[in-house]
Amino acid sequence: MIKRKSLEEYKQGVIQGNRVILSQAITLVESNLDSDSELAGQLVQEILPHSGKSIRIGITGVPGVGKSTFIEAFGKLLLSKGKKVAVLAVDPSSQKTRGSILGDKTRMEKLALDKRAFIRPSPSGSTLGGVSAKTREAMLLCEAAGFDVILVETVGVGQSEVAVKGMVDFFLLLMLAGAGDELQGIKKGIMEMADALLIHKADGENVAAAKRAKSTYSNALHLFPLAENSWSPQVITGSSISGEGLEEAWSMVLKFQDQMLRSGWFERTRASQRLTWLHESVQAILGKQFYAQPKVKKLLESDEEEVKNGIKNPMTLARELTKIFLS
Ligand code: GDP
Repeated sequence: MIKRKSLEEYKQGVIQGNRVILSQAITLVESNLDSDSELAGQLVQEILPHSGKSIRIGITGVPGVGKSTFIEAFGKLLLSKGKKVAVLAVDPSSQKTRGSILGDKTRMEKLALDKRAFIRPSPSGSTLGGVSAKTREAMLLCEAAGFDVILVETVGVGQSEVAVKGMVDFFLLLMLAGAGDELQGIKKGIMEMADALLIHKADGENVAAAKRAKSTYSNALHLFPLAENSWSPQVITGSSISGEGLEEAWSMVLKFQDQMLRSGWFERTRASQRLTWLHESVQAILGKQFYAQPKVKKLLESDEEEVKNGIKNPMTLARELTKIFLS
């Protein structure tokens, strides 16, 4: 049995910005133990009034584009502006690959050393839904602890982008110039989700290519339909080594935030994200109970093979399973 603190100890520790207790509180919400879930739920409920005051920025891009270097440089810039910065990650694959993002402690070393920064690797979890639910709660805890910029890193290769887009205010896609393939394996869908593109590593010999890429991508983005919030995605160039473009990236985030706050889209987006979170949670809880029920398990064991072999209609079995679950 793991020793846990009391609800009050977690709550006070988090609200006072104690990074050790914040870490322990995140461990509690990340726990898969049934015995932890009640306390974790109470804690998140208790700190809720203290959360929500940050700007949440999602950062994505293919491995090697320079995400962790960018986050370190950008994070340091934010610290110099008096901000407190928390870095979280959503990477459902990190369990298999033993921490492909943020898992390696040597990454973002300097940022991690600063007391005004907090870095947390991707939680482990078998499903993307599980990983993103935990990250969302970790985000609320960080906000309650006084972190006013939350950077959520994810790898630009698949579904986790959708999950991160659903939990942040601003979504930044890092790209490289002159990598041959115009879209570099980044799916068009991910580009469409981005509020801004940053052509990264725009230093030394890359500067000219980055400028060209900027105009190519700007033109490409103009072809996308205007987002509901009327924000037209920006394209900028930047380098985490020279520091060029980092100020511009931050001004852009502030401009976005200001525009969204004034139009009411900031709160509207957050409200709809909370609702999505509710419905996803219902599905997750129901799903867990459903598959744990003995009668469901038994019927699945006996009939799953027939679905697999194409003999039985998946929908028919789904209806039968639901019926016995509810009976
Ligand atoms: P990630 O996999 O996206 O997190 O990428 P990393 O941050 O680990 O960076 C991958 C490589 O790109 C490293 O060798 C970095 O030193 C290099 N890199 C990162 N940012 C820059 C940059 O702004 N300019 C240049 N020239 N190299 C960079």
